[in-house]
Amino acid sequence: MTDLPRRVSLREVGPRDGLQNEDPVPTGAKIELINALSQTGVSRIEAVSFVRPDAIPQMADADQVWRGIERTAAIRYSALAPNLRGARRALDSGFTEVEVVVSASDTHNRRNVNRGTEESLDDIAVILSEAHGRGATCQVVVATAWGCPYEGDVPVSRVLAVAGRALADGADSISFGDTTGMATPRRVTELVGEFRSAYPDVPLNLHFHNTRGTGLANVLAALELGVDDFDASVGGLGGCPYAPGATGNIATEELVHMVEDMGVATGVDLEAMIGAAAEAERIIGRQLPSQVLRAGPRTRTIPL
Ligand code: ZN
Repeated sequence: MTDLPRRVSLREVGPRDGLQNEDPVPTGAKIELINALSQTGVSRIEAVSFVRPDAIPQMADADQVWRGIERTAAIRYSALAPNLRGARRALDSGFTEVEVVVSASDTHNRRNVNRGTEESLDDIAVILSEAHGRGATCQVVVATAWGCPYEGDVPVSRVLAVAGRALADGADSISFGDTTGMATPRRVTELVGEFRSAYPDVPLNLHFHNTRGTGLANVLAALELGVDDFDASVGGLGGCPYAPGATGNIATEELVHMVEDMGVATGVDLEAMIGAAAEAERIIGRQLPSQVLRAGPRTRTIPL
């Protein structure tokens, strides 16, 4: 464990990836949730996505949410966009950090944004140059990096080729998204190892879903390879759009709970994050999957 990073950077994606996969909630509740998260010590929050409101009504109020939150200087806020139109909306709204997503699986990309992976990559080249021209940074998220609900396994070589094209076009960093929770530690080691060999200096974020219970094991495999940047969602908010009832993102408080005990700092106050998870549960009105939310931290004792 001595080789693990001493510190990791967490991006809280509950307000975006989480709420996007839940029944729509009022704008005020979204603002409350982001404001609660801003008090937890987390240093990055993916606040909204700029997507077609008819396709994803959960994010139709992205502008109002962004205008309504109490921004904290210590926090980097970002927005996700699936295409050029969305990225322009994000930049017009004043975001200086944008995540743009493309699927390694051509079928998934077509189902998602009605165009092939190559066409999305052409779009992304334009987004990158516009974002940079306006002083913003842009991370390219390669979705279905560990598998696709339509195509099954996606070859590592394919994922690397998509990331490589984005980097050649100027991506500031890469994220690999396990969109439907198909990653296992062995597969994490394989993809991250190959990526690191090819691009040793490119900042890498990993976005795991706990759909099949391997989320934190995947984080540990990545930590052992030196990855120090992860997405997580408060309470495990969000589901899997391809498997009704399945869990979605790994829960932020579970990630914090595990890695802090291993000597890996997150900057997050665990009790505050558990409080934000309870708030998320109230907003959604259903029990969230986080086990640390249910049980509390391992050091919580019962009064005699
Ligand atoms: Zn996700």
